[in-house]
Amino acid sequence: MKRLSSLGLKTVRDLLFYFPYRYDDFSQISSIAQLKENQTATICAKIIEIKNIRIFKRKMTITEALIKDDSGSLKAVWFNQPYLENTLKKGTLANFSGKVSFAKKVLCLSNPAYEVVKQSSDTTHTGRLVPIYGQTYGLSSRYLRFIIKPLLYLTAKISDFLPFQIKKEFNLIDLSQAVRQIHFPDNLEQSKKARLRLSFDELFLIQLKNLKHKQQLAESKAPIIFFNQKLIKDFVESLPFKLTADQRIAAWEIFQDLAKPRPMNRLLDGDVGSGKTVVATMAALSTVKAGYQTAFMAPTEILAKQHFNTLQSLLKKSKIKIALLTGSGKTNKAQVKRQIAKGRIDIIIGTHALIQKDLIFNKLALAIVDEQHRFGIQQRAQLVKNSNLQQYVPHLLSMTATPIPRTLALTIYGDLDISLLKQMPKGRKPVKTEIIPPASRQKAYDFIYQQAKKKKQIFVICPLIDESEKLEIKSVTQEFKKLNQEIFPDLKILMLHGKLKPKDKEKTMADFKAKKADILVSTSVVEVGVDVPDATVMMIEGADRFGLAQLHQFRGRVGRSIHQAYCFLFTDSSGKKTNARLKALLTCKNGFDLAEKDLQIRGPGEISGSRQWGLPDLAMASLSDLELIKKARQAAIKTINQYLISPVLADKLKTFQQIIHLE
Ligand code: ADP
Ligand code: MG
Repeated sequence: MKRLSSLGLKTVRDLLFYFPYRYDDFSQISSIAQLKENQTATICAKIIEIKNIRIFKRKMTITEALIKDDSGSLKAVWFNQPYLENTLKKGTLANFSGKVSFAKKVLCLSNPAYEVVKQSSDTTHTGRLVPIYGQTYGLSSRYLRFIIKPLLYLTAKISDFLPFQIKKEFNLIDLSQAVRQIHFPDNLEQSKKARLRLSFDELFLIQLKNLKHKQQLAESKAPIIFFNQKLIKDFVESLPFKLTADQRIAAWEIFQDLAKPRPMNRLLDGDVGSGKTVVATMAALSTVKAGYQTAFMAPTEILAKQHFNTLQSLLKKSKIKIALLTGSGKTNKAQVKRQIAKGRIDIIIGTHALIQKDLIFNKLALAIVDEQHRFGIQQRAQLVKNSNLQQYVPHLLSMTATPIPRTLALTIYGDLDISLLKQMPKGRKPVKTEIIPPASRQKAYDFIYQQAKKKKQIFVICPLIDESEKLEIKSVTQEFKKLNQEIFPDLKILMLHGKLKPKDKEKTMADFKAKKADILVSTSVVEVGVDVPDATVMMIEGADRFGLAQLHQFRGRVGRSIHQAYCFLFTDSSGKKTNARLKALLTCKNGFDLAEKDLQIRGPGEISGSRQWGLPDLAMASLSDLELIKKARQAAIKTINQYLISPVLADKLKTFQQIIHLE
């Protein structure tokens, strides 16, 4: 039971909703004489003889049995299950399922599933489609079948939350039937229908949740910020560059949202370097000049500092007061907070510190959030709580460089309006990308050395180590030492990782930006947003361990000026799949296409960041099924507009929101 609860299975309901991920097809019943090599089948036979054989050298026990039916006999062997000698005693009639093989010229079943034949013909482990569960904590599928099967009669009590009209229109089976059939399907067809229904459910609930959020926002009030043409025109003219057409369109979409009396909920999605910051700055400028405050939230202190500098320089003529508020830092925080509460500061830039309880905004009208997938309903509610303008929900502009495939845009981000920056500013040269096999390492080092001698800067990214931050830091430290002592003894090298004190991180970044070093060795903390114009080489160790989108992010750290930039992907892996992925990076210059590719090659379960979305498995697996997503969306719209949200559905939606934590 303890093991069950470590799987999160605490109630009968949990068990019924713990679905198998595949089946063993043991449904073909055969007689021994009919068996052919390589066939997977079930036979019903009697144990004639059974014995354990110890193989001491290999520390192994083999259980060998001779089994017989009317048509013939067969050998069955099992490995390391000595207790079988007692379960399958001589004379026992049992089902045996598995793949038939040829060993020493006789047909043989190796490790077959078995099940002692009882009076009822209903089987659990053999003679049918047998469910295989994702197993952890030593819980076998056999055990899970053993405890789930007797509970299945309880599915009759499950109340179906889908409106019957939806079920009919989209040709979906009943929920209780689906739950029964996904565990112990009558046939493959039924198992497909069950999976379809249950996948549909999850997508439908996500859609419904998004629509409800949209509706709720449409019913809330936000400060109206009228478009001030002269203000924006002057600002755009003051820029040292011309805005791209996409930047103009995005800005226009934002201005239109801001001028409405309900809160904007917009995602600005643009590849790295596409120039999101200046668009966000225009929104902030409008807001401030209309008499309100803007909060600008970044995922890390380094980025908050960088945005602070950028906005200060972009807005230096405008007499706007900007403050940086981070967890650490020298500023007198208490005093800054007082000034924010009094409305003496117009734009507040910071990290998560901005949604702390003790930070009171005087007239907050706009929240800009950079690269934080988890900023959502709750965080927004906190901002409202912290504002003196309690009758208003602030406008939200969320920014991301994570390219969002269409299916995701329609599901996870379904409650957001999206503005896309697909173009790059003029004059950018594409980063030359190369996969470096171990043999060419030295050549790459030579090249890097020459770049450094030309006063260009280099990033070195160390492999991702999932299990532990400690190991990651160790690997950065080792890499740093190696480069410093062996490879480039006469270059200046800095090191950056997540465990450094914020102050030290900031100093390292500032030093690197100020060209006090040639090389920055780092973990993935430099992933998002960091802007070092003179960096021309991005070298990534263990490139195969990163997702394509993430690699693309790293690559976006260079090539941010007129100089030609390079991205070197170091890999020891020669796997086909790995290579296909990395090669996609050579040809795709565009993050959006890459994201689609990653989805195709790796499947949705592995695209970077997908774990943190906390999506349920079936929804996750359906993310590549655009048709199903569209159907679920239609169904959700119909349900909200035409059918009643029954108490059962409302209840389901509530628990579902607790399970998925998209914010
Ligand atoms: P991101 O979208 O990745 O956040 P940034 O906003 O940091 O990109 O912009 C990257 C760089 O491009 C900055 O140095 C910015 O000043 C510059 N930039 C932005 N828009 C343009 C443009 N239209 N033309 C030229 N450079 C631009
Ligand atoms: Mg940015």
